[in-house]
Amino acid sequence: MGTSEDYGTGRVLENIRKALHVFDSTEGSLSNNEQSVRIQKKIQEFEPRILSFPEASDYIRKAVTIALGERVCRALHPGSVSTESVFLDELAETMVRSGQARIASIEDAEQTLKKSFQHPLIISKVSGRYQEICASYPPDCVYWRAEKRGLHCLLNRKNI
Ligand code: SF4
Repeated sequence: MGTSEDYGTGRVLENIRKALHVFDSTEGSLSNNEQSVRIQKKIQEFEPRILSFPEASDYIRKAVTIALGERVCRALHPGSVSTESVFLDELAETMVRSGQARIASIEDAEQTLKKSFQHPLIISKVSGRYQEICASYPPDCVYWRAEKRGLHCLLNRKNI
């Protein structure tokens, strides 16, 4: 499972990079490929869920600490569309400490997600709790890319 520390140290980004490399260097369905099944298992540990704006707002309003920062995987695609993620609680504190996010108010976090309304919102479990809300960019997103290659991981996908 991914931990807050993995986000702070960049280990999560490295794992995303490795998974995307597999997707980029192969073609077709990966569902029977041993390496890909390992990737799928790792991804599923984040229990990523597609959520609506009111659901995201609910998580934000219940959090003790809120931070905003560039979506984690954009570091791998600096020229791509820019969106910001909302980090909550322990993850928010780690991201602020590592210089990857800034403390934000409830209103700022909600406004940021509203601005990215055309990007599907995904919440991920970090250190065992849902703490990262991303306005995802499907062409670069490890979850969307996995789904496209037959590796199911996104819960609530039927709502999109
Ligand atoms: S776009 Fe996908 S892979 Fe990138 S940070 Fe967001 S949820 Fe993670």
